[in-house]
Amino acid sequence: MIPGPIEFTPEVMRAMGMPTTSHVAPNFINIFGEAIELLRQVFLSPTGQPFIMAGSGTLAMDMAAANLIEEGDGVLVVNTGYFSDRFARIAERYGARVAEVRASVVGDVPSVAEVEAALKSGSFKLMTLTHVDTSTAVSVDVKKLAKIARAYGVLTAVDGVCSVGGEELRQDEWEVDIALTASQKAIGVPPGLALLVAGPRAIDAFKRRKSPVRNFYADWNEWLPIMKAYEERKPSYFGTPAVNLVWALNVSLKQILEEGMEKRVERHRVISRAFKEAMTSLDLKQVPLSNEKSATTLSGVYYPDGTDSSLLKLIGEAGVIVAGGLHPQIKDRYFRVGHMGGVNNSDILATIGAIETALSRSGCKFEKGKGLQAAAMILE
Ligand code: PMP
Repeated sequence: MIPGPIEFTPEVMRAMGMPTTSHVAPNFINIFGEAIELLRQVFLSPTGQPFIMAGSGTLAMDMAAANLIEEGDGVLVVNTGYFSDRFARIAERYGARVAEVRASVVGDVPSVAEVEAALKSGSFKLMTLTHVDTSTAVSVDVKKLAKIARAYGVLTAVDGVCSVGGEELRQDEWEVDIALTASQKAIGVPPGLALLVAGPRAIDAFKRRKSPVRNFYADWNEWLPIMKAYEERKPSYFGTPAVNLVWALNVSLKQILEEGMEKRVERHRVISRAFKEAMTSLDLKQVPLSNEKSATTLSGVYYPDGTDSSLLKLIGEAGVIVAGGLHPQIKDRYFRVGHMGGVNNSDILATIGAIETALSRSGCKFEKGKGLQAAAMILE
């Protein structure tokens, strides 16, 4: 129950273990082409251009920045934690003038008005949002913020590494120009794929560049023809794709779409609500300042007074693996629980049960079963 890599379905794991074909074998070309088409459906971006690359989520961020940013371009980073910091650093690496709007306390998000004021006061080409910051478990209102950016003629890139396939994200409808993720979270495929969908305005901005892309591997000049060729079911090559991972992606995207995006998003909402209610009923404080600012793919929970990270080991001994803190300001004061992908009611109840056992073993006074009961009231 960590926020990635998550647990993968047997069908996905079987695809990982298949004999590896050539990247230009006709059956693989078809699997790759289909995965590109399915990705558009998962990102809800019928007009988008998907990129499926060997690499991790950071490569997808790098690719977005490398292809859009030229020396001196203004980039506004809406900063909600560790991974927003990363986007700022990547943008700087490509010569951007980076400005940040940052919440004053960990667990908060900048207000829509603050972001708008920043957009108004500067000249920006790109705004970056971290849909769900995995270090704080807070989520930002992508729909509202992207709309405002569009009104100011600014492109929006959404780091959806901890959201796509779990949180609601409607790329085209919400006017998001780039959405990106990695395979190992709510997409449900072992680590190793960077996934990005670029909308028409992002591709346009890329085509209007005056200077060369300063990253060889991530250059869309190389990859656009490759993605187009696979979609047309034609052989092509720039860098060898991660054949088995693409095969696994094809399987997982079909499983996601079989469930249906709306149902999947709702399942994540309910499970998240059940977990968060359970934590509240056990008097455990969470990192996000309010439910509206909370992710549905993971939760960040402060250790109760008198306990510390030794609780993690006890939760593990009770049979569930959760993650430690990540945000540098509060790193040793909280733990994180991922509840995304194929997670089900039994998983979340087992997790709450393990947390209760750990609390009890570390001497915390609470009414046993209270968390489980609170969750059970929500999980039908
Ligand atoms: N952004 C977010 C929100 C993430 O959670 C992560 C990974 N935890 C990344 C970016 C980086 O992804 P990767 O580790 O796959 O490079």
